[in-house]
Amino acid sequence: MLKIIQIPVLTDNYIYLLHDTISGETAAVDPAVAEPVLQVLKQRGWQLTYIFNTHHHGDHVGGNLELKQHTGCQIIGANADKHRIPAIDKTVEEGDVVKLGTHTAQVIATTGHTSGHIVYYFADNNALFCGDTLFVMGCGRLFEGSAEQLWQSLQKLKALPAETRVYCAHEYSEANARFALSVEPDNVALQQKMLFVQQQRAENLPTVPSTISDELATNPFLREDSPAIRATINAIANTSVEVFAKLRRLKDSF
Ligand code: ZN
Ligand code: FE
Repeated sequence: MLKIIQIPVLTDNYIYLLHDTISGETAAVDPAVAEPVLQVLKQRGWQLTYIFNTHHHGDHVGGNLELKQHTGCQIIGANADKHRIPAIDKTVEEGDVVKLGTHTAQVIATTGHTSGHIVYYFADNNALFCGDTLFVMGCGRLFEGSAEQLWQSLQKLKALPAETRVYCAHEYSEANARFALSVEPDNVALQQKMLFVQQQRAENLPTVPSTISDELATNPFLREDSPAIRATINAIANTSVEVFAKLRRLKDSF
């Protein structure tokens, strides 16, 4: 079995600890900081085998060095980011797989938020660790890629099985839902999701993970072909990429 522990850190980051109960191997996905990870490892009696990084931003790699010092773990990240992921040991790219004991993740390249962004997809566990590419009802900002590149990347994630759980790296759902409702106010699934998000956040509970099927129903960045969204933002006759780019620009200044 693959155990997944969600650790909220900083203002709105999530670190994930993955533990294979058969081999005992453990991985941290995007450790923004080290101390909370070390605490969970100690509580559970686990040893850190790997760090899986999705991209080079500080709120995803900030704990790399300290965790490696304490645990001797091996750090895995994108080949394209090997010059800027601290203490990286092993580079991967699209088509590669990474192993965690008896479990295997496919590496999918998702350029857009950054040029080297990758995600880790555990098909057998229906779990996607997507960093800052896809959020609950949102997507990453375009720091190093074009709208077209991020749109292409999201098409790959859209094509994953509907039941895939989406473990993104930030709790941005409430702000994302507000924007989503502004462009698609009559979407009932979205209205219901907003209620769920507000209930969870009122109790300081996570709204992550969602699922690909939830995202297909509510996430405007996967719904650029929705006639209602296109009508709201005056983009009825535009291409999918153009509508996506316009949504991204609108969200940037929302
Ligand atoms: Zn980032
Ligand atoms: Fe981030």
